Amino acid sequence: MSTITEIQTAYYRIPLPELMEDAKHGLHTHFEVPIVKVRTDDGREGIGYTYTGGFGGESIAKLIDKELKHILLGKDPACVEALWEQMNWGIHYVARGGLASFAIAACDIALWDLRAKKAREPLYKLLGGHSNKVNCYGGAIDLNFPLEKLLANNQKYLDMGLRAVKIKLGQATLAEDIARIKAVRELIGPDITFMVDANMSWSVEQAIKAAKLMAPFDILFLEEPTIPEDYEGYARIAKEGQIAVAGGENLRTPIEFAHMLSYGQVDFPQPDASNCGGITGWLKIAALTQLHNVSISTHGMQELHVSLLAAMPNAGYLEMHSFPIDQYTIRPLMIDPEDGMAIAPEEPGIGVTFDWDKLAPHQLDF
Ligand SMILES: [Mg+2]
Repeated sequence: MSTITEIQTAYYRIPLPELMEDAKHGLHTHFEVPIVKVRTDDGREGIGYTYTGGFGGESIAKLIDKELKHILLGKDPACVEALWEQMNWGIHYVARGGLASFAIAACDIALWDLRAKKAREPLYKLLGGHSNKVNCYGGAIDLNFPLEKLLANNQKYLDMGLRAVKIKLGQATLAEDIARIKAVRELIGPDITFMVDANMSWSVEQAIKAAKLMAPFDILFLEEPTIPEDYEGYARIAKEGQIAVAGGENLRTPIEFAHMLSYGQVDFPQPDASNCGGITGWLKIAALTQLHNVSISTHGMQELHVSLLAAMPNAGYLEMHSFPIDQYTIRPLMIDPEDGMAIAPEEPGIGVTFDWDKLAPHQLDF
C-alpha cells in the first residue's frame, strides 16, 4: 500500500488569443486551469486538473487546498472510488455540485493518473479499450464572429481533416441564426456532420420554433436549447421540434444526468469530466447512458475526453473545444486525416502532460 503525502495546487489564468462569445456566458477573455499534483510516499506523482471559462478558478483552487487536501492526505491513492465518495460527502452539505464538482474532478483525475501509470496502461485501455479512436467535431465559441470569419473558421476545421462541425446560436433574431446555419451548410456540403449550440438562450417555445426552421439543413443535434434543469422542456423540444437534443455541460452530478435521461429526452448526453466529479463521476454517467441505450459525447477537455470516449462502446462525439489548451500540453489532440477521428494517446496515465514552461507565466497566487 502507498500513501498520499503531498497535494500541491496551482492556479493558472490564461488569456485567449481572441474574444469568444456564446449566448449566455457572453464574451470570454481568459480560461482558467487549476492543476493538482498528488504525490505518494513511494515517489509517484499524479496530475489532475479542471478548467473554467474565466470565472471561479481561484475559488476551485482554494477549495482543493483548504478542504479536499485534508480529506486525501494520508489515504491510499489506489482506492479512487472510495476517495471520490469521501470528497463528495466531505463537502456535500456546503457545496453539492458547482465549484465542488470541479474541485473533486481535479483531484479525482490526479488519482486516475496515478492508477493508470501504476498499471502502465493508457487510460483508454484501463477503462475498457473499446477503440483508440472517436468521432470528433470542431466546436467554436463563435457567436460574435462575422459571417466571413464564421465560414473561414469552419473551413479551418475541414482543412484539419475533421468531418463534423458545430456553431453557436442565439443571435438577436432567429432569422440571423438560420441564415448562418444555411451559409455554413452551403460551405461544408451535404456530407459533413453539422451540429448547433444555443447555450441555453431560448424558451422551450422559441427552441421548438427554431428546431422546425432548421429542418432543411440536416442538423445532427441542437445543444442546450434551454436551461439545463428543464428536463421536461428538453423532451418537448425533441418531440415537437422533431430534432435530436444534446446537453449536459451544465449538469454537475451523476444523479442530475439520471434525471435528465429519465425525465427528459436527450439523445446526446455530454458530460464534462472537469465539472461532474472527474473520471469517476464521468464513468457513472457513462454507465447510465448505456442503460438508457443512448450514446455518450463530451464537452471541452478534448485532450482527456478522447481517452474516455474511445474506451466506450457507445461513444458519440468528442467536442474539440476552442480554448487553446493544446498549446500548453506536449501532445496536441491528434486527428486521423483519413476519417477525421481523434486518436487516444498511448502513454501510461491520463495522457495529458502539461508544458510547465509555457504555463509558468500565467500562474497566479490564490
Ligand atoms: Mg455547449
